[in-house]
Amino acid sequence: MSVIAFIGVGNMGGPMARNLLKAQEQVRAFDVSPAALKPVLEAGAKQANTALDAVKGADVVVTMLPAGSHVHSVYLEDASILSAARKDALLIDCSTIDIETARAVHVMAERSGFDFLDAPVSGGVGGAQAGTLAFMCGGSDKAFARAKPVLEKMGKRIVHAGGAGAGQAAKICNNMLLAISMIGTCEAFALGEKLGLEHQKLFEIMSAASGQCWSLTSYCPVPGPVPAAPSNRNYAGGFATSLMLKDLKLAQNAALSAGANTPLGAEAEQLYSLFDSKGHGAMDFSGIIKMLRGEM
Ligand code: NAD
Repeated sequence: MSVIAFIGVGNMGGPMARNLLKAQEQVRAFDVSPAALKPVLEAGAKQANTALDAVKGADVVVTMLPAGSHVHSVYLEDASILSAARKDALLIDCSTIDIETARAVHVMAERSGFDFLDAPVSGGVGGAQAGTLAFMCGGSDKAFARAKPVLEKMGKRIVHAGGAGAGQAAKICNNMLLAISMIGTCEAFALGEKLGLEHQKLFEIMSAASGQCWSLTSYCPVPGPVPAAPSNRNYAGGFATSLMLKDLKLAQNAALSAGANTPLGAEAEQLYSLFDSKGHGAMDFSGIIKMLRGEM
């Protein structure tokens, strides 16, 4: 049994920490929100009063924080956890953040002698609860080898994408593609509706033809063809538009600094920005079909 410090036990970190407890690990949890901490403490985690208290003596430290600024403050600012963690502790950041901050944390962690991995996830809250997340990891072979057995207690696919920041890079490339394919799928259904096609018929044709993609066959944005998709519950739950927009902004910033040409990624960011600004940030991202139809 290892002692795992878990910092940030919100919508994703909470169920991830609970899966570590289910796997018989000892979890020491810290979150600035008492409401977020409560269910994790009820599941058996020990409460830490600060991030520094959480990491003292821990074998592994997992962080699952909202954005790069939070990761920066926990790892790189005054009273950083790097000053309090045991020197042989393994550090894993599962938050989705900008590549620059991820690389800066790698540099500082390695300078202080730690194995550190950036390991953002896909799979959403459902995947966090079910323990079926996919982890995209960036860091050394040694850090990855140490982290894999820990991550396997919270996820199903653990992939070593490359060196420092490669996990974040893979995550934003994937989500940029997802946003573009979702908008394309929505446009195809919206056009099909105007041309008098039935949803189910168009679904059957496209899913067996060259338009086939995950946004269509696993997450269909119109109700009916894929019963588990959020379109069947008026786009409640699922992957919030505000989180998709966050990832698209990260992708556009990365494209700008790397000099990559991503015109459809830029357009997707604009469309999700507009949808979010109309007050639909909490709606599943496939709900953008309503805006494309002119309904909202
Ligand atoms: P969340 O806001 O529910 O949880 C984040 C938690 O971190 C909150 O409980 C907050 O109080 C806590 N926190 C903030 N600053 C802190 C600090 N300095 N010290 C300790 N705790 C602090 O967010 P979430 O949905 O759990 O997402 C976490 C990360 O996972 C984000 O980077 C997000 O982009 C990524 N992600 C989310 C989803 C999703 O579907 N929710 C899917 C994939 C990836």
